[in-house]
Amino acid sequence: MSCWLLKKMGSSYESEGTYFEEKEVSLMEIGSGNYGCSHYKRRCKIRAPCCGDIFNCRHCHNEAKNSLETNPLDRHDIPRHEIEKVICSLCGTEQDAQQYCINCGVCMGKYYCAKCKFFDDDITKNQYHCDECGICRTGGKDNFFHCKTCGCCYSKEMKDKHRCVERAMHHNCPICFEFIFDTMKDITVLRCGHTIHLECLKEMEKHYRYTCPVCSKSLWDMSKLWSKIDQEVNQQFPIA
Ligand SMILES: [Zn+2]
Ligand SMILES: [Zn+2]
Ligand SMILES: [Zn+2]
Ligand SMILES: [Zn+2]
Ligand SMILES: [Zn+2]
Ligand SMILES: [Zn+2]
Ligand SMILES: [Zn+2]
Ligand SMILES: [Zn+2]
Repeated sequence: MSCWLLKKMGSSYESEGTYFEEKEVSLMEIGSGNYGCSHYKRRCKIRAPCCGDIFNCRHCHNEAKNSLETNPLDRHDIPRHEIEKVICSLCGTEQDAQQYCINCGVCMGKYYCAKCKFFDDDITKNQYHCDECGICRTGGKDNFFHCKTCGCCYSKEMKDKHRCVERAMHHNCPICFEFIFDTMKDITVLRCGHTIHLECLKEMEKHYRYTCPVCSKSLWDMSKLWSKIDQEVNQQFPIA
């Protein structure tokens, strides 16, 4: 059995003599890493409130329901904040979203956000929920602050050092047109304050384009802002 949990408990744990609830540890660990999809490791599936189908995660739903095989009239994204029901991957019990299965007791995600109904067993991403963003992000709460003007969490390194652009994150990438705010890809803030996917920026540079595609200011001195973010859309800002 993995000693991960015990190690995390740190100073209070001694290898001999201190008792931890063996059961609790195993429910936290059992099956961890063996379930989920390419997007998240987790031990439950979600029941999509829109179409009633079961998926590993919201990205799996959106990929399937927006694929070319899907009738264009039936294509849709999941209304994330309406997810209520999950299905335990170990025992198959459908239930209201919560961290521990009501039937078998297994931990369905080591990280669990009750507001987003979001599960993830990979807690090395340092997920946290930002109330102002209304979604869960990664990278550790201590490393980020929420800029009210830009309307997004930015790395603390950028505090007082970035050019604020009203709701800078609430638009589409100027290159690939994906909505930036809840993308899972890395984002960069340009010197002018405009935002773009890191990979789209690299693509531009490969083609010797060194100016912001939005305002044409030069690109140098951009800072990497956040790593990937996780989950949950803010329905006030639907994907265009
Ligand atoms: Zn659906
Ligand atoms: Zn998925
Ligand atoms: Zn279960
Ligand atoms: Zn959350
Ligand atoms: Zn935030
Ligand atoms: Zn700002
Ligand atoms: Zn892009
Ligand atoms: Zn710009």
